[in-house]
Amino acid sequence: MGINHLYIHVPFCKAICYYCDFCHRVYDEKLAERWLDRLSREAEENCKDQYETIYIGGGTPTTLNDTQLKRLLEMIDPFAERVMEYTIEVNPESLDQRKIDIMKKHGINRVSMGLQSADDNLLKTIGRRHSFDDVKDRIALLKDNGISNISIDLMYSLPGQTMQILQDTLNKALDLNIPHISLYSLTVEENSVFGKKGISSLDEDIEADMYELIEQRLSEKGYIHYEVSNYCLKGYESRHNLGYWNYDDFLGLSLGASGKIGNSRYTNTRSFEKYFNETDIRDEDLHLSREEMMFENIMMSLRTIYGLDIEAFNRKYDCDLLKEYPKGVNNPNIKVDHGRLVCTDLAVLNRVLLDFMD
Ligand code: SF4
Repeated sequence: MGINHLYIHVPFCKAICYYCDFCHRVYDEKLAERWLDRLSREAEENCKDQYETIYIGGGTPTTLNDTQLKRLLEMIDPFAERVMEYTIEVNPESLDQRKIDIMKKHGINRVSMGLQSADDNLLKTIGRRHSFDDVKDRIALLKDNGISNISIDLMYSLPGQTMQILQDTLNKALDLNIPHISLYSLTVEENSVFGKKGISSLDEDIEADMYELIEQRLSEKGYIHYEVSNYCLKGYESRHNLGYWNYDDFLGLSLGASGKIGNSRYTNTRSFEKYFNETDIRDEDLHLSREEMMFENIMMSLRTIYGLDIEAFNRKYDCDLLKEYPKGVNNPNIKVDHGRLVCTDLAVLNRVLLDFMD
């Protein structure tokens, strides 16, 4: 059976945000050319299917210049003939009409934009290079061009963020009328600017209050909290990400990308040098045992409110899930609903999963 999902990591950003340690460099035109040369070889060797979902993430894909963005999308065209959801991540400062024309020409029908906060001072504190008005303008431009399947990323537990600032951000984000919102609390990564400066996220109690406020405001407005960090209006779940959570196979290309094919899970190198000069670009290539796959499958599927299809799981692994994990299925936050195993409180999922590990 073929693979349905393709992810491509674009490892460049215009500037590096202070909380981020994703795999990226500040954009350099020549380096991006070399990266595209290498990516085209990687795609040639690995892309063999027609993908139902394609996700171009990063980094910031729209940091590429127009010619490079066109070249990237042309490279993928042969594998996008029956794509249903084709997403690209963008930042407001690198999105304009010309880029949107290129995106549309190649079938991109979903855009994920980093907003993080609607408070311009807070945006500066976290190293973002745009204002809330920039986001508003670009979302209007996308909609004028017929792209309304838009997701925005927001963050909470940021240094200097108050409940009032978060409240205001939620109100402004809701006024944008977009169907999908991802929300992440700040995790301070050691290699980020924040990590190096010893900056930390907010106190746990404030973070919990912020989480409650988010739940309340978004659910009032009809957003479904369908995955640990994701909310959407009915029918606007990210199909690509549902593939991950459904534990489907997926191909990941470029630096830092991961993929899963059968019982093999790999992560590509984050080093440009290795990526450019070596044939084997994987830093990690794991062969998972049946038990490891079963646990990962449960772990991923319980992240969404749709949970895990018990019968499909039993067929896939030739087992009886309810008997195999007695402690897990008896956890008070687990229920069986219409043949699916569901976690009733996503906020405590990590604790629930411990019972499946026993
Ligand atoms: S948050 Fe996004 S835009 Fe900012 S540095 Fe990280 S990948 Fe780049």
